[in-house]
Amino acid sequence: MKKIGIFLFSLVFCANAFAQKTKQGHTNQNKFKQLKDVLATPNEQRTASGAPGKHYTQQKVDYVMDIILDDKKTKITGAETITYHNNSADELAYLWVQLDQNVRASDSKSPDISSGKVEESLSKKAFDKSYPETPFDGGFKITSVTNTNGSNLSYTINQTMMRINLTTPLASGETFKFNITWWYNINNHRTIGGRSGYEHFSENGNNNYVIAQFYPRMCVYDNVEGWQNDQFWGRSEFALEFGDFTVNITVPEDHMLGATGVLQNEKEVLSKIERKRLAKARKTYDNPVIIRTQKEAEKIEKSHKTKTKTWKFFAENVRDYAFATSRKFIWDAMAVDINGKNVMAYSLYSKEANPLYGEHSTRAVAQTLKTYSRYTFDYPYHKAISVDGQMGMEYPQICFNPGRPDADGTYSDKVKYRMIKVTIHEVGHNFFPMIVNSDERQWTWMDEGLNSYMEMLAELDYDKNFPITRGYPRNIVKYMAGDQSNIAPIMSKGDHVYEFGNNAYGKPATALWILRETIMGKKLFDHAFKTYSKRWMFKHPSPADFFRTMEDASGVDLDWFWRGWFYTTDVTDIGIKGVKKFYTKTANDSVSFIEDTSKGLDFVDTQSKYHYEITYNKPGGLVMPIIVEFTYKDGTKERKTYPAQIWRHNDKEVSKVFSSSKQIKNIVLDPNFETADVDTSNNSYPKQQVDKFDEFKKRIKG
Ligand SMILES: [Zn+2]
Repeated sequence: MKKIGIFLFSLVFCANAFAQKTKQGHTNQNKFKQLKDVLATPNEQRTASGAPGKHYTQQKVDYVMDIILDDKKTKITGAETITYHNNSADELAYLWVQLDQNVRASDSKSPDISSGKVEESLSKKAFDKSYPETPFDGGFKITSVTNTNGSNLSYTINQTMMRINLTTPLASGETFKFNITWWYNINNHRTIGGRSGYEHFSENGNNNYVIAQFYPRMCVYDNVEGWQNDQFWGRSEFALEFGDFTVNITVPEDHMLGATGVLQNEKEVLSKIERKRLAKARKTYDNPVIIRTQKEAEKIEKSHKTKTKTWKFFAENVRDYAFATSRKFIWDAMAVDINGKNVMAYSLYSKEANPLYGEHSTRAVAQTLKTYSRYTFDYPYHKAISVDGQMGMEYPQICFNPGRPDADGTYSDKVKYRMIKVTIHEVGHNFFPMIVNSDERQWTWMDEGLNSYMEMLAELDYDKNFPITRGYPRNIVKYMAGDQSNIAPIMSKGDHVYEFGNNAYGKPATALWILRETIMGKKLFDHAFKTYSKRWMFKHPSPADFFRTMEDASGVDLDWFWRGWFYTTDVTDIGIKGVKKFYTKTANDSVSFIEDTSKGLDFVDTQSKYHYEITYNKPGGLVMPIIVEFTYKDGTKERKTYPAQIWRHNDKEVSKVFSSSKQIKNIVLDPNFETADVDTSNNSYPKQQVDKFDEFKKRIKG
């Protein structure tokens, strides 16, 4: 087994230039070399400390929109006026707009880039999705692009991107206002997928709409990417500017609707009793207050009113906009005290999601806002909504989540914890990337990884026995030790990686967990993480801004850690190669060490002091601290941690002397599985046949 392990590892290292160099050399210049040649050169927009510089700018985009939902034709029609503020120092000859729905246009190239073979058999649902009789056309139909005096603007559509050609370039500091009108067919996300869409219920013929990417949205322009106009292929998400949204949404009058922004016409859209209950909820911090009951919703879902109602919202300083609407929605609400400021936690759900949603959704929203606010900054918006949308997708102040009980209203722990987990995750996205607004199209890990890490803390706050599935070092071992040809570094674009979940969620979350628990300690890590969050709140951070801030605020050099964990696919494997025992003899002025050559750790004679020369080897490519636990013969234990820098002169093996007045019974490396060590068979001395972790590994492999 051991030999095979080493053989596999050498194959891995040959494929990896970084590791190969250091494997052969003795000194370890590469693994501890500062990242200066890898990170962008600091400038007046992004400083060497990782903070925004004094000339940091970002564009601002304001939207005024009128949206009409046609429930019969499952169609959205929209008109928007975009006000684009060019805060950059650059002159812009054209503007880029994102047309995300074109990923579902009949001529979309997205399905063409995924390869496939005929499968032996498929479920009817999967078959219909892969081989539809008539392909669904869900692309944007742009009906006009005009300037403020109504004349047509020239534009070019390239798949999911649209270039607006300006007749005169937009100078630095200037504002350009223009109008777009459009419509599109809404996708049924339950049958053909998507990050928004509708779910159809054959009973009473209703649809739950969870609507997003429903309007042409401005691309980001900055000093990192220029125009971020990489196509939307379906996986790597979005890059968006902050701005103010004035949105009017017209839906059937018997719908209940939730959306980004502050509702401007409560009296017109909510009943008297609903407003009364809402007023009560605004003062209730311990239990959700039901605003629209299940009984009321069940009656309404049979009504099918054809008249419409317009909901009016204003959202300040958000990067995106989404809404959910249905006749079926039950609504509950609870106030959350965030450092003396009232924030509302809301849930909208159909009866099919109850009682699971009624029992956990709003509570999970509230917990997320509390935990995240504690570790980052006070949640700045007035509300956060969780919608029974039967997917996991996030937008400012509103997100769509999965999980429903069985028909008899019972649900397993698995269903319950998954629903809570996803709700915490999606609500957590309000912080990363909705407020700490990283570029999702390019760097999935910057929002998913940071958010998956924070999600763990909120889950443990919600329930100290929460079954965490991702983020603990032991959970990532199987992935990191897997077939290296299918593994990409974390610093990869989401569209391109094989195991998206492990690459962009699990591994970066684990990396942060290890930094906090093992490398930096909670105090230094938490301060640095909060510093990053506050520095880049309502701004656009890049990876370098994160890497630099974590060091800048903690005084811990982490370049070796970013290098190993984020830029390579190396693994942790540290072992004990051998132990020599010594006692001393003092004669005149010199002390000589005499080796006890007997087998095992036992000394032949009793001594006053025992010296152990322990040689640690490192088959793994990652440099990591050596965590050693010594168990003495009297049963007491002592822990010693050598920093990762112990490997700086020799990447293969190092020796250390450990002296004690008590005899050691055994030595174990990384006893609490803190480092994601992929092979624990070399972690103990004398060798233990099977340790707890091997049993655990067998379980997860089986
Ligand atoms: Zn996510």
